[in-house]
Order: sequence, then structure tokens, then C-alpha cells
Amino acid sequence: MTEEQKQQLESGIRDVVDFPKPGIVFKDITPLLANGDLFRLTTELFIETLNGQVPDKIIGIDARGFIFGAAIADRLGVGFIPVRKKGKLPWDTTGVAYSLEYGEAHVEIHRDAVSEGEKVMLVDDLLATGGTAGAAIKLVKELGGDILGMAFLIELAFLEGQKNLDPDIDLTSLLTY
Ligand code: AMP
Repeated sequence: MTEEQKQQLESGIRDVVDFPKPGIVFKDITPLLANGDLFRLTTELFIETLNGQVPDKIIGIDARGFIFGAAIADRLGVGFIPVRKKGKLPWDTTGVAYSLEYGEAHVEIHRDAVSEGEKVMLVDDLLATGGTAGAAIKLVKELGGDILGMAFLIELAFLEGQKNLDPDIDLTSLLTY
């Protein structure tokens, strides 16, 4: 990724202070999504993190991970799997609870979403404490999936989220703050 591309992505991200709670600086990606060139560039840069590997499925994390995950899956011509907040998936699920930068959460996946040995890529907009990504990894591993890598648009490095994640899984963040 070039310095120019990095600056382009950064131009689409807006800091919203004290949202959703006092003390949180929310990284609002809606300006980036609203710009067709930036959205496409982001999708392409996400795909580059795979270094030519082709996953069987893309797993997107609720909710902004769905936006990028679906775009990546469509580009690669592979399936998309949602990891959702508790109570949203209608079929037989497996779930895990974890703590978030601003609260508690619980995510779920359909038990039939990933088969044993399937190669998957995990995608989300932002890595903060790593709780969400860690929970998603746990769910995919439980189903026997093989995680080729995970990628984020933004990493809040000061929260040291990577410390909560399996160091053997390849991780790329397009932007680090
Ligand atoms: P965490 O589990 O702490 O790594 O939090 C990651 C999840 O929470 C991601 O799905 C993000 O979309 C969301 N999130 C956490 N902190 C922020 C933030 N400062 N700005 C935007 N989204 C955030």
C-alpha cells in the first residue's frame, strides 16, 4: 500500500468524540463508504492482504465487517458468512461472550456456516481491544475452519488488541492509530 493510498483512506475517516460514550473517540467510516473510489480502494487493499491466497469464505463481523466482507467476497466470487450479535441468527448457532472497549457483548455464528478445513478470511472495520476478533476466531476454530488471515481497516494500536489474539494468525491493519 502506498503512502498516497494511506492518505486517501485516512481522508474518509472522521473522528467523533464521546460517541457512543464519554471518553470514546469513534472512528466513523461512513465518509469512506459514501465515496465510491475510496470504498473500492479499501476492498482492493483488503484483498491484497491475502497475498494471492484464495479463501473459501469471507467472515464479516457485525455490523461494519459485513460491508467490507460482502464486497470482498463478491470480488473474489466466494461465500460470505456473518458473525452476528446475540439473537440475530435464526438457525442453530454457537456463541461466545466477551468484553468490549465500551461494554459487554456476545457474538454467534451458524453451526453450519463453516465446514471442517474450510479456509476463511476474517474481516472487520476496526480492531480495538481485540475482544470481538478474538471471539470470532474462537467460533471459527470451534467449527474447524482454517483462518488464512484477518484484516481490519483500522487498528487502535494503543489498546493493544493484538495481545488478545492468536499470534499465529496473520493480521493486517490498513491504518494504525
Ligand atoms: P474490540 O472488540 O474492542 O476490538 O472492538 C471492536 C469492535 O467494536 C469493532 O466491531 C468496531 O466496529 C467497534 N469499535 C470499537 N471501538 C471503536 C471505535 N473507537 N470506533 C469505531 N468502532 C469501534
